[in-house]
Amino acid sequence: MRNSVFSGNFVYDACTVKPMQDSYNILKEQFGFSSFRQGQAQLIDAIMSGRDVLGIMPTGGGKSLCYQIPALMLEGTEIVISPLISLMKDQVNALEEEGIPAAFINSSLSAQEYYGILQAAGKNQYKILYIAPESLFKADIINLVQSIRVSLLVVDEAHCISQWGHDFRPAYKNIKAFLEMINPRPHLASFTATATRQVREDIIRMLGLENPFVLVTGFDRSNLYFGVEKPENRNARLIELLKERKGQSGIIYCSTRKSVEELHEMLERKSFPVTMYHAGLDDVTRHKSQDDFLYDRKTVMIATNAFGMGIDKSNVSFVIHYQMPKNIESYYQEAGRAGRDGAAADCILLYNSQDVRINQFLIKQSQNEGEADSSIIEQKMELLRQMTFYASSSDCLRSRILSYFGEPGSSYCGNCSNCKDNVEEIDISVDALKIISCVYRLLERNRKMGKAMICNILTGSRSEKIQNAYLHELSTYGIMAGTDAARLRKMIDFLIEKEYLAVEGTDYPVVIPTEKSRLFIKEKPKLTMMMPGINIPGTKPVPRREKEVILIKAAKPSAGISPPVFDEQLYEQLKKLRNRLASEAKVPSYIIFSDASLKDMTAKAPVTAVEFLEVSGVGAVKQERYAYAFTELIRQYKARRGNKNGEDQ
Ligand code: ADP
Ligand code: MG
Repeated sequence: MRNSVFSGNFVYDACTVKPMQDSYNILKEQFGFSSFRQGQAQLIDAIMSGRDVLGIMPTGGGKSLCYQIPALMLEGTEIVISPLISLMKDQVNALEEEGIPAAFINSSLSAQEYYGILQAAGKNQYKILYIAPESLFKADIINLVQSIRVSLLVVDEAHCISQWGHDFRPAYKNIKAFLEMINPRPHLASFTATATRQVREDIIRMLGLENPFVLVTGFDRSNLYFGVEKPENRNARLIELLKERKGQSGIIYCSTRKSVEELHEMLERKSFPVTMYHAGLDDVTRHKSQDDFLYDRKTVMIATNAFGMGIDKSNVSFVIHYQMPKNIESYYQEAGRAGRDGAAADCILLYNSQDVRINQFLIKQSQNEGEADSSIIEQKMELLRQMTFYASSSDCLRSRILSYFGEPGSSYCGNCSNCKDNVEEIDISVDALKIISCVYRLLERNRKMGKAMICNILTGSRSEKIQNAYLHELSTYGIMAGTDAARLRKMIDFLIEKEYLAVEGTDYPVVIPTEKSRLFIKEKPKLTMMMPGINIPGTKPVPRREKEVILIKAAKPSAGISPPVFDEQLYEQLKKLRNRLASEAKVPSYIIFSDASLKDMTAKAPVTAVEFLEVSGVGAVKQERYAYAFTELIRQYKARRGNKNGEDQ
């Protein structure tokens, strides 16, 4: 490997500073993007001004560029600590595609590869070197970082340091000691998508960040559609969803290994292009499944939450949760793996109230296995409660997620199932009084009941249980007869969510009054909630909206992506060319160009190298490598179409 790499307009040499290059030039000319995403410029500036930083941005928000651009501006080699082998491989592939010298060190290397990389690194030949946390304290690595100039130490997926995070990784705890062995101490830049206060504090303290610049960007991903559905038959609905998305790449998340295997078997039998991943599979199988998915040999991945961290496959266009995950944090991170390239994508949760019980069981099991103390278990139960609110909410789903992350948002996004399903604001003041009174009447008899039983009492069910417990004698028995049970249930959920009622107990959750219930009964204020009109989710599957509608309605398309004027045929041909180039280069196709880039290319239809550079994601190196092949295809396509149009006339 040479000591410098010529890449388009740039010559990078690990030991040369490039004060003339500002970060925007690099973004534009190297990476081919026309504007920074939210937070990127500030974080890069803070790093360049010599601050330690902590960047908290959502999955797909563009954290990598925040440390890759400084690597090109600073003297020396940037060390990036990253938790997953697949992530490192992917990033190094992508950097090489951009003409940036990079390598990784982890347990997947042969001895020969390992020493080759060490030697090249010792000669300052890389701008970026990824290292697995477990490898940090190898004598070779310590020698290396003590002998070269380390421009910046980066900790990606920094939440792995905290046991409050969902991906705790013990080796991350050694990073601070590792940093102390490097003299002079390089600045430290850390990144995560996890925004809770505890995790943030753990990162700052345990990494030893000094007076860090901390930036939390907006968590909204406007290209993502959020849907919650409560189908009577989950499998049937899943099959429908997959058929509507034929040829697209997607992930189906399940809570347990068993459901992964069952779904995989069922869908494979029906000839869907599926593969699967969970921690119980052996290394070779997991590796193969992952590669099949990354290289689009199998377009649908069925997995537990063991799959995905560090999977930067940018063309995942849907994430379906077959079961409800245990907290909003995990949900958003997993769902956020869709649409990383900024193209419209769908995140759909198939919810069944049994999911709550499965999750409670899994949380308790972790306590029995001694993994967590009781305060952590309590906290986990609370997080599960928040997730359940999301699944049963009739509010704008996006605003629920954003408010969970502490971001005030508008109560209508227009791109989630609740906003799309012609919801209307209805006055529930009288119904709320009836429901709350019922809870009080029960309490007077020293009884507390679950939601289902309260529904039964209010609607006047004649079940034996009610008769045996003399509940038909309550004054509130049957006062809501005729109300649709699903609708009533939604109102109860709404009252709990707004704290007019509360839930107590986990084994047999029962509804109890709160301080707000008392005030409500006394003051009888007006109360309204958003409720679907005639079509109540829970009684029927939510009707699927047309894909075109999402493309057009998806609010604020990301920077650099053209409006979707679309020639499907050209797009397919460009995709084929990309896939061929990818398989020749033995890299996943999204490493050559993301789907978003190809869509932009379809819309702009460039026929010269200069026009090609205008495509989002095309920088100087990709222009040099690919302009000819793609513009030639487009030229021929246009010529053929021109002829055909001529004949038609
Ligand atoms: P994460 O924050 O999850 O680590 P990545 O760094 O993997 O996100 O970026 C996600 C995707 O967004 C990548 O495909 C990347 O090329 C793209 N991206 C990053 N920054 C920009 C930008 N400024 N303009 C357009 N696309 C961008
Ligand atoms: Mg990342």
